[in-house]
Amino acid sequence: KVTFPKPERTRMIAVANQKGGVGKTTTAVNVSSALAQYGARVLLIDMDPQGNASTALGARHASGEPSVYDVLEGRMSIADVKQTCPDFELLDVVPASIDLSGAELEVADMADRNVLLKRAVDEFLESSEHHYDYVIIDCPPSLGLLVINAMCAVTEMLIPIQAEYYALEGLGQLINTIGLVQEHFNPALLVSTMLVTMFDKRTLLSREVHEEVKKHYPTIVLDTTIPRTVKISEAPSFNQSVIAYDPRGMGAISYCEAALEIARRSPTVLQAIDARRNEN
Ligand code: ADP
Ligand code: MG
Repeated sequence: KVTFPKPERTRMIAVANQKGGVGKTTTAVNVSSALAQYGARVLLIDMDPQGNASTALGARHASGEPSVYDVLEGRMSIADVKQTCPDFELLDVVPASIDLSGAELEVADMADRNVLLKRAVDEFLESSEHHYDYVIIDCPPSLGLLVINAMCAVTEMLIPIQAEYYALEGLGQLINTIGLVQEHFNPALLVSTMLVTMFDKRTLLSREVHEEVKKHYPTIVLDTTIPRTVKISEAPSFNQSVIAYDPRGMGAISYCEAALEIARRSPTVLQAIDARRNEN
């Protein structure tokens, strides 16, 4: 029987990797859906102007629709813009639209430009009538101001790693940026999770990538890997996570297992990860 622990305090996780197409959005969407299906209350924040996570969860995000852009600009609160995912009543989505692409420049001169999202999230969690178990943020493929805002708003980073030849390239730069944010803005931030995505069990390369990541980050990388499946890639065009679209398929099962592994990461494990970081 599956036991599914709920965290005592809201866990805040940003899904980031400056490389595009590695499975960030797919992971944010499906881990959020799996957690909500297991009974956790989840807020997914779409921080990518492409709005792919909003699309995949059936949230309206045409230009002009109330979105995370209005939140960052201080016109609206998260409570004003969030929408409930049609498939999971415990999953709320803060959508992003193309309007967000202007935000980085518009707030660039503000003294508090790095913590606009953090402030909005903290205020929302404090004032919300519901207790949220998870806040999960889908980041755009960059290391710009939107991603820095996400890094300042959370305590955990989830890094999806695509099982391909150049998998670990760029990881150093990402970890350096996370280190700078820790040092200057958010000492509580840690890399808690890595997840190998688009795994092809027929290839040696996929297994080698998983082994390599395990060797460098043994306590951080999940045992679960996400296979490359057609259903995972089809689901967004039906405005659904694969958890709702094909609940019995390998894609959904793998994301449910990954979500379970994440949920079982107790504060002790997270502290251990933190200690490791400080040694280096
Ligand atoms: P990112 O957000 O990092 O840019 P996405 O999650 O959007 O990456 O994934 C990039 C593309 O790969 C999308 O078209 C997505 O549907 C597809 N994709 C992601 N993960 C899988 C998978 N496990 N199997 C098949 N297709 C996948
Ligand atoms: Mg994306």
